[in-house]
Amino acid sequence: MNEVVVVGAGLAGLTAGYRLASAGVRVHVTEARPYVGGRTASWDERGMKVESGLHRYIGIYSALPRLMQDAGIDLSKALIWEDEVEIRVPDGPSALYGASPLRRPFRTIWNVAGPGKLCTPGERARLGAFFAAGLLHYAASGSTVLDRHTVRDFAKSKRVSDRTIERILVPLTEGLFFYPPERYSAYVLFALLAQGAKRALRSGVAAFSGGMTEVMADPIAERIRALGGTVQTAATVTSLVVRGDRVVGITVRDREITAKEVVLATSLAPAQELVRKAFGIQSWNEGMLSLKTMPSATLQLELERPALPVDRGTFGPGTSLSAFTEQSRTTFTHVPGRLSIILSQAELRLLQRPEEILEEVCRDAPRLGFELKNIVRDYRVVTLPHDFYSLTPGMEALRPPQETPIAGLTLAGDYTRQNYLTTMEGAVISGEHAAAVVTRRLNG
Ligand SMILES: Cc1cc2nc3c(=O)[nH]c(=O)nc-3n(C[C@H](O)[C@H](O)[C@H](O)COP(=O)(O)OP(=O)(O)OC[C@H]3O[C@@H](n4cnc5c(N)ncnc54)[C@H](O)[C@@H]3O)c2cc1C
Repeated sequence: MNEVVVVGAGLAGLTAGYRLASAGVRVHVTEARPYVGGRTASWDERGMKVESGLHRYIGIYSALPRLMQDAGIDLSKALIWEDEVEIRVPDGPSALYGASPLRRPFRTIWNVAGPGKLCTPGERARLGAFFAAGLLHYAASGSTVLDRHTVRDFAKSKRVSDRTIERILVPLTEGLFFYPPERYSAYVLFALLAQGAKRALRSGVAAFSGGMTEVMADPIAERIRALGGTVQTAATVTSLVVRGDRVVGITVRDREITAKEVVLATSLAPAQELVRKAFGIQSWNEGMLSLKTMPSATLQLELERPALPVDRGTFGPGTSLSAFTEQSRTTFTHVPGRLSIILSQAELRLLQRPEEILEEVCRDAPRLGFELKNIVRDYRVVTLPHDFYSLTPGMEALRPPQETPIAGLTLAGDYTRQNYLTTMEGAVISGEHAAAVVTRRLNG
């Protein structure tokens, strides 16, 4: 019998599986898709290499690099550091922002304190006051005040101008979590900025040097196997097995797999479905079951030549290209040009045909200073309709802790409570917390 079954081989599940296997626990990880990695997965989609969406590793992360290194991944080979991020205002100016105080100290300081192209000194001062007020609220009361406001409302209350909101806050919020400032909670923005402020010198942005399944998730899964665990793909869990008042296993293809402990490490929507089916609505799961989800949508293009001169994170506020990056020199070097775009208005994209999305992006690209029209070789639209917990105000209090009051059941996943929200770092931290809970429970 397995001691622990982990449901889902995204970063949260792989972390829990790896940490438990390293501690000598017999672990079985079961994953619905044919490959591991979850939202950090990369795969072949009808002849084109794709990923769930462009990802940036942020220098302030600590749990993720620790996991990768412990699993034998050489960070200097897996990551390619980028010195700047760019904001391109449609039909307007563009600005480069140094992304690393350590690697590019002068540019970074100049961007923060220098004259700047995107807003006036007065606008900058008000923006500074907005950031200071948000960080102070975060330090004083966490989510209590901030999670009542959207970023836009909070910025307006600090007299940040509409122009600054459009030019600075829209790219910031869309770049961080794909949605404009009226769609998400001020708490979300400041919780993440506060983590950055604590580790300011380590900020910096890196691309992965290949598809993330191959560079990160597969090696972690391999280590779990090397430690005596099993990782099975294409194995969807259809229910939790409950006996009396405890979870004793899972069902995969009508077959019961028993375990002393189950770590439910799927994304939010499938976790809600499995928990609702097993327990209905109870006081312990009420918050989790009422958390809302939100979609993401990306367009990934193979090109005849690079669309952009440098591979770096770029934001196109007010266009269909919320965040985008050339990847042919970093993540997908097998093609002459590769552009990955996180699309704005994800809900709308779920209803559009891929050709319509491509057409809109090709129309918007020249407004951001580059052409796509005659260089597209192939493209795919990749959507995730429900996988993020919604970042709108009021959600923070509903996020569940990893430990549940149900014997045999622990939760993991970026939607569970930790300070890094819906990021790779957050997923890894949740997996570490889950492994600690399970270890304690196994030891009695
Ligand atoms: C487009 C996009 C861009 C992003 N950009 C960044 C970024 O730049 N930086 C950053 O830090 N983060 C980024 N993220 C967020 C990051 O990818 C996620 O927060 C993190 O990967 C979530 O990991 P997880 O393990 O919690 O969930 P998931 O990765 O969703 O893993 C859950 C796993 O459970 C599996 N599963 C679901 N149901 C079942 C079932 N019934 N049985 C078995 N298995 C099941 C799923 O297939 C999946 O593999 C981005 C996400 C997306 C989608």
